[in-house]
Amino acid sequence: MKEGTEADPWAIGWLVRGLVLVTFLAAFAVPVGLVPIVAIATDASGELTPAESVIVIQLGTPVPTATPTPEFTPTPHVPRIGIIAGHSGSDVGAMCPDGLTEVEINLAVAERVVRLLAGYGWQVHQLEEFDVRLNGYQADALLSIHADSCNVPGKTGFKVARAEASYIPHPEDRFVECLRHHYGSITGLPFDQDTITYDMTRYHAFYEINPNTPAAIIEAGFMLDDRALLTEHPDVVANGIVAGLVCFIEGESR
Ligand SMILES: [Zn+2]
Repeated sequence: MKEGTEADPWAIGWLVRGLVLVTFLAAFAVPVGLVPIVAIATDASGELTPAESVIVIQLGTPVPTATPTPEFTPTPHVPRIGIIAGHSGSDVGAMCPDGLTEVEINLAVAERVVRLLAGYGWQVHQLEEFDVRLNGYQADALLSIHADSCNVPGKTGFKVARAEASYIPHPEDRFVECLRHHYGSITGLPFDQDTITYDMTRYHAFYEINPNTPAAIIEAGFMLDDRALLTEHPDVVANGIVAGLVCFIEGESR
């Protein structure tokens, strides 16, 4: 056996044993924090420098996992509705010889409609005829409530119209159809197609609100021949209007 020229197999053996021992020690000592893991970062000069703090990985620390995604629960859409009490805040509207005014009828009905819709949890705004909020008003529907003049003996019935130059004719036609069908069947009044005027189709509020807000105007009945319904049964009138609004908002075909 030659001495010094070849690696001593005994030395290699001890070296391997030493490395195995160090590995075992590290395997136990690092997790319990006896031997810190020093994080190395490269600073601006490109030199490796120990990070500010020593990172110790604790045993038994729960492994962070991805936060479970909460189950998707869509927020129910709360319908937003604007109700104009025709002529309120402005003038009396039509007037009968005995002093009955259109605005008092409109207000009595509008207040009931607002209360009923709010009862469904809907967001409802009662608006005046020239309410500043009408400017660019955004809602799922806007309805202006009016009553017809007191000077047409023998005339009975109601009318509903949307803007002549509608930006959204399809939903607005459906809105009108919903009101026409439900208001007619609840109040028993006939639909009076013939006396729809420019006062209705060119109604000022149609051109003040956001063009994407479906809007309509209703003349709920004539103040002379339909007076009993309008003044003594405003709840029936309000129910008819509410049924039309519900039909439109909840997407009935008419
Ligand atoms: Zn009016």
